[in-house]
Amino acid sequence: MKFVGSHVSAAGGVENAPLNAQKIGANAFALFVKNQRQWVAPPLSQKSIQLFKQNCQEYDFQSVQILPHDSYLINLGHPDTEGLEKSRAAFLDEIQRCEQLGLDRLNFHPGSHLNQISEEECLHRIAESLNIVLEKTNGVTAVLENTAGQGTNMGFTFEQIRYIIDFVEDKSRVGVCIDTCHAYSAGYDLKTEEGFEKTWKKFDEIIGFQYLKGMHLNDTKKNFYSRVDRHDSLGAGFLGEKPFQRIMNDVRFDNIPLILETPDETIWQEEIERLRSFINA
Ligand SMILES: [Zn+2]
Ligand SMILES: [Zn+2]
Repeated sequence: MKFVGSHVSAAGGVENAPLNAQKIGANAFALFVKNQRQWVAPPLSQKSIQLFKQNCQEYDFQSVQILPHDSYLINLGHPDTEGLEKSRAAFLDEIQRCEQLGLDRLNFHPGSHLNQISEEECLHRIAESLNIVLEKTNGVTAVLENTAGQGTNMGFTFEQIRYIIDFVEDKSRVGVCIDTCHAYSAGYDLKTEEGFEKTWKKFDEIIGFQYLKGMHLNDTKKNFYSRVDRHDSLGAGFLGEKPFQRIMNDVRFDNIPLILETPDETIWQEEIERLRSFINA
């Protein structure tokens, strides 16, 4: 089964996210479980939690169809102690919110070295952050997203992601989300048929499909290997429609949330329909 949706708004309360997803014909969605631009937010109310669960049940969203995204402020590989502690506390809070909502995974960008520590040290800190937070929580998998490698962001190669996973103690609670825009910008050719096959073969060898807990389906405004993160609507950018047609017809991408983070939300419904129309086309 293919679960397709987009990163919907949770304005007015997390309970609105499943409603917003249902309105555009999605059978998957992503959301922020906390205001993504603030370090601290009031806890989720019991009413919000209960309504979220109720709405998910009513519109048939299981946790396997939902991929929450953490705040952009969090940097689990932060070079200084204060930034690192703040990030770990905020990440713990987000994982706990997922626990409360009955969600089983949280998607995050690995972290950035900010030119103050080595790449290796940054990757170690990220793994250590995960060990600390996972130890204090239950049932939620931390899902590392590959990045475009813009600035000092880590996680733009499969090897870097593997390196983090290797140092995570509880491997049953770490996963990976591959963003197609980021992968292409980081130098993984998903555009040609040969490149697509090669990339996923490499992914399986280095990381392993058992870790794949979600995908972000985005086209890109920037060319191959640009190391720049600029999403585009499906088929409108450098990737074109082909990679998405392949994904929709490939069982390796079954039963995980396939999430659009494309810039024009007025066409999300259309994009979801288009993705579904690719199946067996
Ligand atoms: Zn993404
Ligand atoms: Zn992005």
